[in-house]
Amino acid sequence: MKTFPSHVAFLGIDPQLTFCEDGGLAVSGGHQIMPKLNELRSKSTKGYWTQDWHPIGHSSFASTHGREPFTKVWLENGQIVADYDDNAEAPKNAVLQILWPDHGIQGTEEAALHPILHVPSDDMILRKGNNPNIDSYSCVFENDKKTQPRFENGMTLPEQLREDGITTVVMGGLALDVCVRDGALDLKKEGFDVVVVLDASAAISSEGKMAAIKDFLNEGIYVCYSDELDSYFHPSQHAPAP
Ligand SMILES: [Zn+2]
Repeated sequence: MKTFPSHVAFLGIDPQLTFCEDGGLAVSGGHQIMPKLNELRSKSTKGYWTQDWHPIGHSSFASTHGREPFTKVWLENGQIVADYDDNAEAPKNAVLQILWPDHGIQGTEEAALHPILHVPSDDMILRKGNNPNIDSYSCVFENDKKTQPRFENGMTLPEQLREDGITTVVMGGLALDVCVRDGALDLKKEGFDVVVVLDASAAISSEGKMAAIKDFLNEGIYVCYSDELDSYFHPSQHAPAP
């Protein structure tokens, strides 16, 4: 197993019990990807993780509004201003929200990073979703696409990556069709090379997975399986012998 070059970092997205089977917002195959995240982490000198970290009564929870989970609504300042309608125009200043079952509540056991993960003590953890009124799928922008999640040191993820000399990010985690997707697309827009590892990620739905992969390919994000990474980062060593 070869290590990544030093400008390549590992980024694990929301690998929390709350997104695994029996969690608040269970993603099928969640537990299964954790050994793969450990493997990817061990290939990189730098590691970053995100953690969905909501206060009780978060505006993304269906229970907060007395609604059914997976209903689509428009939120303004955390309040429902309209139900989502395919044919209707978006209300001004509102943010589209899928209402989720309760998940990722700050300080709960299921909000912790998965217990089998090996997280070195100097890895950096970015907590997102702590603004009660705005959800945050992406590790770069909250869902208003203006405000940004920040590390405890006050830096955003792109700022921290640049400071650490990182130009390429190898990503996996949960869920591929929500937080991995939005984070990968935003990091690419920020100028990073992005690699999404399919066998280190699990999706909420297969349609969502296909749509996300299409988005990745359209935006120039490299999508692969973990066993392709050695030849991706060390191509010359895999060239056929003369
Ligand atoms: Zn969440």
